[in-house]
Amino acid sequence: MSFRRFTGLRSAIRTPQKNCIEAHLSDVLEEAPPLVIEALAEILITRLFGMRTSREAHECYKAWASSRAITRRVEEVRRQRGRKRLLPPQGLFFNLKAVFDDLNHGLFGGELGGVRIGWSHSRSRTMLGHYDSSHRTITVTRWLDRRRVPRYVVEYLVFHEMLHARFPVEHRNHRRVLHSKAFREAERGFPHYQRAIRWLRGIKADE
Ligand SMILES: [Zn+2]
Repeated sequence: MSFRRFTGLRSAIRTPQKNCIEAHLSDVLEEAPPLVIEALAEILITRLFGMRTSREAHECYKAWASSRAITRRVEEVRRQRGRKRLLPPQGLFFNLKAVFDDLNHGLFGGELGGVRIGWSHSRSRTMLGHYDSSHRTITVTRWLDRRRVPRYVVEYLVFHEMLHARFPVEHRNHRRVLHSKAFREAERGFPHYQRAIRWLRGIKADE
């Protein structure tokens, strides 16, 4: 087992040869209590062998990983080591920067500054949008830069990620609450909210 300077809180396990297991853990774990390392070891080993992980191990690791001190530390590490790879906001059919600026002026009173926005490298259909708080970047999947995608859908996704920039993650009982009540309420303030949700459900059902 060795510690690696990964960008996030990542761990990897593999069996390079028979009777040998190699685990690489994020160096953030170097200061973790032995109990947490044990729990993670159980998680990794059971995953490797397709076995069930105990609830205790999951909960122990999760409680540590989602604690305020650790999420802060991971963000710091990301900011220092991570290089944010975004494609420029001008796509084939949509300009994300223009969408962002319109929403910022129209719905945020022009208050949301210092946020970079761009298309993702991959054409993910599961990860449609993402806000990275350590880099203050919004990424939208390039899969949506298509003619058949209505502008209000792209607007909705950008709006959703902008709300993540506006509402910081809440911590409740060791859990990170990404979409708080206040977040959800603000989200329904988007003029085409229902239409956008329906359209997105429709394409997911199509596949
Ligand atoms: Zn979200």
